[in-house]
Amino acid sequence: MKINLISDTVTKPTKGMLKAMMSAEVGDDVFKEDPSVNLLEEKVATMFGKEAALFFPSGTMANQTAIKLHTQPGEQLICDKYAHIYNYEGGGVSFNSGVSCKLVDGERGMMTAAQVKEAINPPDFYHSPLTTLVSIENTTNKGGGACWDFEELKAIRNVCDQHSLKYHLDGARLWNALVANDETTQQYGALFHTISVCLSKGLGCPVGSVLVGDQETIQRAIRVRKVFGGGMRQAGFLAAAGIYALDNHINRLAEDHTKAKEISHLLESLPYIKSVAPTETNIVIFEIDEQRRSLDDFLSSLKQNDIHIIGMGQGKLRIVTHMDYTEAMHKKFMEIIPQL
Ligand SMILES: *Cc1c(COP(=O)(O)O)cnc(C)c1O
Repeated sequence: MKINLISDTVTKPTKGMLKAMMSAEVGDDVFKEDPSVNLLEEKVATMFGKEAALFFPSGTMANQTAIKLHTQPGEQLICDKYAHIYNYEGGGVSFNSGVSCKLVDGERGMMTAAQVKEAINPPDFYHSPLTTLVSIENTTNKGGGACWDFEELKAIRNVCDQHSLKYHLDGARLWNALVANDETTQQYGALFHTISVCLSKGLGCPVGSVLVGDQETIQRAIRVRKVFGGGMRQAGFLAAAGIYALDNHINRLAEDHTKAKEISHLLESLPYIKSVAPTETNIVIFEIDEQRRSLDDFLSSLKQNDIHIIGMGQGKLRIVTHMDYTEAMHKKFMEIIPQL
């Protein structure tokens, strides 16, 4: 039994999802004639109380499109030093938008409103890049699936309003935050100018992300997506998976969170684990005490048992629970780990 915990993107479509995909009504989405894509976009826009939404082949493209929409070349955006848009999107912020990032030294990927305010360049000081955008991430990926305090997010929105900045949410794992904290899509929709959400992470779709915003912004996003090469034709087969996932796979994320917390507790009890980051959702980040056990030795004994996890550099390791990590796998994992 292979146990793959490297990411929540490793999931494969369920029978129900495949059935929904195979029976999807499709058309040419570049002409906006795919009924399933249109339905998904309407559904997600409505969920967030936004005017419009646009389907994307990846979360990276949805974020990069949002950044392009909110900025001009030479400008600067503010984000945490752990931000996915800065660390894991191939340098797209500068490549696609000609924009630089002002990195904030936050906690587990989260900054405070005071730090954001501090990071804004004075607009009349023409020597420095003009600050025009703040981008945050919920849950934080490199921050170990940490969830924001909604009050802090509101405070950052106030800072944005005072300084005429746009506010983008990279919500690749927003679903996990909503389930963990009993929050709603509506409250997030009301706070941000644009939000990207992933369908291919916790929700178990093979492909897809959605960007929501107002009508004018999303209209412009269609052009940017086309420029980035993201105009897809009969994408309804993929959108149907998204619709199915939104209807069936959100609430079950709580199971992934429970399993991750159990793993987190187990790791804390092992003598050769130096530290385990607080586990709020489906990501567990931990460190081996290399005085007691080498990283290579630990990883190779996991591999011998067909258990796969990922290194994050600097001695940190990551485990991500997901839909295809079954009860049987969890049971085996919890039994094997203390014996390794
Ligand atoms: C995975 C992820 C993305 C990008 O998703 P892709 O579909 O892999 O491009 C963006 N932001 C965060 C926080 C992520 O975890």
